[in-house]
Amino acid sequence: MSCIPNSVCKMCRRENMKLFLKGDRCFTDKCSFERRPYPPGQHGQQRLKFSEFALQLREKQKTKRYYGVYEKQFALYFEKADKSKGVTGTELLRLLETRLDNVVYSLGFASSRREGRHLVKHNHFLVNGQRVNIPSYNVQKGDVIEVKESSRTTNKVMGAIESVKKREIPAWLEADHGAFKGTVKDMPARENITLAVEENMIVEYYSR
Ligand code: SF4
Repeated sequence: MSCIPNSVCKMCRRENMKLFLKGDRCFTDKCSFERRPYPPGQHGQQRLKFSEFALQLREKQKTKRYYGVYEKQFALYFEKADKSKGVTGTELLRLLETRLDNVVYSLGFASSRREGRHLVKHNHFLVNGQRVNIPSYNVQKGDVIEVKESSRTTNKVMGAIESVKKREIPAWLEADHGAFKGTVKDMPARENITLAVEENMIVEYYSR
């Protein structure tokens, strides 16, 4: 079950940025955020002053929603990042960015992360020739992600490949759409992660 409810566009408006949760629609003038770039609700257009805690909370919520993970799972990612040797905020983003559902979306084999998660769960992908159906699977440098041969003509995969022209493939990944394959060239550095978030505020949120 996905953790993203139907009113996904409200999330973008709440976080005051496009989270690209609806696939192709996000690149059209039907995008709700383009039409109403202010928070939903009666007081959405009022200028509010946020406390430090509220700002930290928003950064956490924004990141969680962008990658489509549950609260508990997000907290576990933070714990793992905190125990790692690197910078906690960057490690947190790296763990989220290398999730298989995000990678298949980034490579252009799914039109949204949610769809990527659905396709991974339904056994449409191989990693290094082995079937992997765990959306949270973290890819590593050198991994080859491939659309299973029998899944290459599905409308969702074909449609995603067609629409990927509207966005850039991250520099740490390499896609070969003709061969329905992608390679992890390197682990993502912070500058390769396009989400505009202040991850240090997430660290502060969990350090309270
Ligand atoms: Fe967000 Fe716009 Fe996509 Fe809706 S259509 S999910 S508001 S980016």
